[in-house]
Amino acid sequence: MAKGMTVAMVVSEMAPFAKTGGLADVAGALPRALGRLGLTVHVVVPRYRSVTSKENPVFLSPGVHVHWVDHDGFFQRGGLYGDARGDYSDNLERFSFFCRAALERLRDLKIRPQILHAHDWQAALALAYLRHRFTGHPVLGRTKTVFTIHNLAYQGVFPKEQYLHLGLPWEFFSMEGLEFYGRINLLKGGLVFADFLTTVSAAYSQEIQTPAFGEGLEGVLRKRAPTLAGIVNGIDVEIWNPADDRAFKDHFDADHPRGKAKVKAQLQKEFKLPVDPKAFLIGMVTRLASQKGLDLVTLALPLLAREKGIQLVILGSGDRAIEESLTAACRSTPRLAMRLAFDDGLAHRIYAGSDAFLMPSRYEPCGLGQMIAMRYGSVPIVRATGGLRDTVTEDSRGNGFVFEPYDSGALVDAVLRGRDAFEKKERWKTLTRRGMKSDFSWDRSAREYVKLYEKVLAA
Ligand code: ADP
Repeated sequence: MAKGMTVAMVVSEMAPFAKTGGLADVAGALPRALGRLGLTVHVVVPRYRSVTSKENPVFLSPGVHVHWVDHDGFFQRGGLYGDARGDYSDNLERFSFFCRAALERLRDLKIRPQILHAHDWQAALALAYLRHRFTGHPVLGRTKTVFTIHNLAYQGVFPKEQYLHLGLPWEFFSMEGLEFYGRINLLKGGLVFADFLTTVSAAYSQEIQTPAFGEGLEGVLRKRAPTLAGIVNGIDVEIWNPADDRAFKDHFDADHPRGKAKVKAQLQKEFKLPVDPKAFLIGMVTRLASQKGLDLVTLALPLLAREKGIQLVILGSGDRAIEESLTAACRSTPRLAMRLAFDDGLAHRIYAGSDAFLMPSRYEPCGLGQMIAMRYGSVPIVRATGGLRDTVTEDSRGNGFVFEPYDSGALVDAVLRGRDAFEKKERWKTLTRRGMKSDFSWDRSAREYVKLYEKVLAA
């Protein structure tokens, strides 16, 4: 059945064209992996300023077509969802326009997708419009729907007064629809209107049904538990490939690991740290958001600074207050260095040049950083939550270091366990090799999505 299946994806960012985070990585890689399995995938994305392609649609790779939604006023801006002052105030209009236009594009091109797969709050309204306008429609009337939650904390919440912009009848603004405590909640629309829900790891699919992680929507999610599954993301192993990476020149892989030491030395230079092969160099590449556990890092820095031989480099951008507290903490500590930017090339060099990669997240739907790090021979040190719990283990057959409590002491202990292992050469070699040999490719995840699509179509 997979061969010949047509899927339409509605998604608000897609690597390499426009990216703020992991969602773009998924949207860039999953369609291509599905294409390799013989599906036809039409991806609909806003044409942001960063999109330079003139073609529309773009033929991306076998089976994959990318359609741009144009609206200069809405999308030709500096940011995707906001700027330094915060979220754009017209995001409801921007993304309701996007969702309507996405369906109209499919309709006009007579693309009859068996599955419409929408991602996160920005695309959730596509499911509402599909119901409202296209029930029984010759092109889209039989389409089944899947909605993927990449991060439940971002829900697209707007005041009720903006409802008129949606062009939907008021019956859609109900407990069984877009209404949530008197406001419009777009993500909730996705949760109630989709035929099937997925999240990006099995652990997160369970966690979000509890008050601690449910962000208020745990009740809605519990009701949908029979049609909710977790499929862990893959990484794009062509983009993330230490044996062929444009961001540095000393390439390496599991069987030829020598180049890594050179990339490490370069990275130490780039961050003006002492060039020392014996230093335990820890990297972080992260959005600066409260989700990512940077308050723990700030608390742990003075303790880590006392430990000889530990170096830490952080690449991050986002929240101003987090930027400031981290910068202040780094300033007083010469072996810690920080770059406030979104810099893809530098991110590659950090994955490749670091010995270990730190992700102390408060919660983590899937997390790509830990998988990318392993592929580059950098051993993950993570907090046991969501996708980090599913992909990193610390035991005799493990691949990293894991701590449970959300606590800076537990973080420091995990880092020190990592450093101790780093100092035992053979142990470290085993760990890095195990990571580099693991299969994080999208093909595995894509096969699971195909099984799910088939199940949804059969239901
Ligand atoms: P999230 O989607 O929550 O931000 P993920 O771990 O799923 O977290 O994915 C983050 C992706 O964004 C990774 O590819 C990571 O390398 C990249 N990234 C995050 N912050 C930066 C940054 N400041 N510069 C470059 N790349 C970044």
